Amino acid sequence: MNSIPYGRQNIEQDDIDAVVKTLTADFLTQGPKVKEFEEKFAVYVGAKYSVAVNNATSGLHLAVLALGLKEGERVITTPITFAASANCIRYAGGEVWFADIDSDSYVLSLESTKKLIESKPKGFFKGIIPVDFAGLPVDLEAFKKLADEHGLWIIEDACHAPGGYFTDSKGIKQMCGNGNYADIGIFSFHPVKHIACGEGGMVTTNSEEVYKKLASLRTHGITKENMAENHGGWFYEMQELGYNYRLTDIQSALGITQLAKNKAGVARRNEIANAYKEAFKGIIKYQNLPEDVLNAHHLFVIEVDDRKGLYNYLREHNIFSQIHYIPVHTLPYYKKIGYNEANLDNSEHYYSKCISLPMYPSLKDEEQAFVIEKVLTYING
Ligand SMILES: *Cc1c(COP(=O)(O)O)cnc(C)c1O
Repeated sequence: MNSIPYGRQNIEQDDIDAVVKTLTADFLTQGPKVKEFEEKFAVYVGAKYSVAVNNATSGLHLAVLALGLKEGERVITTPITFAASANCIRYAGGEVWFADIDSDSYVLSLESTKKLIESKPKGFFKGIIPVDFAGLPVDLEAFKKLADEHGLWIIEDACHAPGGYFTDSKGIKQMCGNGNYADIGIFSFHPVKHIACGEGGMVTTNSEEVYKKLASLRTHGITKENMAENHGGWFYEMQELGYNYRLTDIQSALGITQLAKNKAGVARRNEIANAYKEAFKGIIKYQNLPEDVLNAHHLFVIEVDDRKGLYNYLREHNIFSQIHYIPVHTLPYYKKIGYNEANLDNSEHYYSKCISLPMYPSLKDEEQAFVIEKVLTYING
């Protein structure tokens, strides 16, 4: 048996052809492929606007800036996420506050978030960054209701969930990142995520104002819009301090072919998830889904008592599982800052038991059967 990673990109001949074709085209960056990728992505998730960026971390940074986050302002996120979901707040000089996760779905708990908000005076917090953890869409309708009551914005970190959806109270499917219940959605195109660009990201929104701000900040804050008549064609203005967070045409070409495969990829990921659930039902705890959601299944996480033992046992059999995540508030950088006062017991308990099993569309049935057999053998002693 070959070694089996926990996640892996799926690059096929059409992906390679698309990239090679771009290499001989007129533009390597800032050409037609970026626009095409943005347009197709916006249509796919059902958002009005999308802005391609060089990675999701940059996207998160631009998102907090576009929503006006200033030094010292406070934002709530989940500790069970990749550090970037919190780091973006720090880039803008803001304070990171953590609320706890729900112990069955592993996403940011609405109750815990509400409790944290209500424990502070009005106006204490500016926004919430929920994460569609492992691909499970957060119930943003409920979060938006809470956010609206307190005048907060929402950035949906949908890096795990392109193609996922939840169903709102009107029975309408709400695709992750569609912006109906959040101000901004964020996606990553790191190879371990659904859509691989090498590096890359996408920011989605339904607000024209936010879109313009994102687009400006992505490219140095420079605009050619205000060309007075006495200036020449070379004229541009730098209106604000922006960045170079652009995605290339080479990467966008890959993104376009990858995006086209995502629906099938999510379907295959759900097949794999169902096979795991069938094998583990009543024996091992796994992420619990609400009804009427499509989990995009970036990950398949189980909880076991002897997590380290299982991790090492799987490695001995060339199965490379992973842990998602070390709670962000326990990372040395955040420990040193120590803003947080919330009770994060669920997150810490989850971390002591969680382990992510192989989950990617090209995982073969016999490979998955091997993983399941090894997990069950270990659990049954
Ligand atoms: C991967 C990831 C990011 C960062 O994505 P990059 O494209 O690597 O910058 C942010 N948030 C979450 C939840 C992620 O999984």
